[in-house]
Amino acid sequence: MKKFLFADLDDTLFQTIEKCAVREALEPAAYYSDGSICSFTTPAQRAVFDFMSAGMTVIPTTARSLDAYRRVDIGFTSYAILNFGGVILQPDGSIERDWQGRMHGLMTAALPGLQELAARIGDWCARTGYGGRPRLVEDEGTPFFIVVKDPDKVALNLERVEREVVLPWIAGEGRDYCVHRNGNNLAVLPRSLDKADAVAYVTERLRREHGEIVTFGMGDSRSDARFMADCDYAIVPRRTQLAKLALEAL
Ligand SMILES: [Mg+2]
Repeated sequence: MKKFLFADLDDTLFQTIEKCAVREALEPAAYYSDGSICSFTTPAQRAVFDFMSAGMTVIPTTARSLDAYRRVDIGFTSYAILNFGGVILQPDGSIERDWQGRMHGLMTAALPGLQELAARIGDWCARTGYGGRPRLVEDEGTPFFIVVKDPDKVALNLERVEREVVLPWIAGEGRDYCVHRNGNNLAVLPRSLDKADAVAYVTERLRREHGEIVTFGMGDSRSDARFMADCDYAIVPRRTQLAKLALEAL
């Protein structure tokens, strides 16, 4: 029976140097647009990845955009799920058009809410003198989600943005949206954008191609939990948000 691993990328297969558990024998895994190194793998991560890709097909399942995904230097050979599930690439690297059409409709409907929230965050930043800015992430002509990063990489500052602006909005007119905050990353997504929906779509496709299959899900964040729960098995790296919430908490 064929086995497939849906794997989150950042903080799961590799991470920035600040987050590397060891600093020896690191190898570059992803790059910034200026060509400088963004993220590294540890020897243990490479050993695990080699072990897993020998026995199953790895399908990246990431919030990265198409451009950021192309700057990942790990060889993947099958489908890829990008933009929190907004874009699916086929094994030949082309965009899956049926999925793109569906997501374009859903995301266009969700855009006014994202713009409204971005304006609120912008006002709050101006009022409080906060240096972070909301950015609308679009790809291939479709808007997907809002992201805020703290300019000084202080995660607690994003907690304030979440508590004072985002959560009150979601409790009111923003109920069709959700927030994910992990490290220096605060993302607000329409509920119609979820890695789990894209994983379900690709899984269905794989079942048509291969018959019965076994699926594994691997990720570090709260935003990975739903798609991992839908897989037959879930793999959670240690010292991650999801490990804290799901395993260490018990
Ligand atoms: Mg991650």
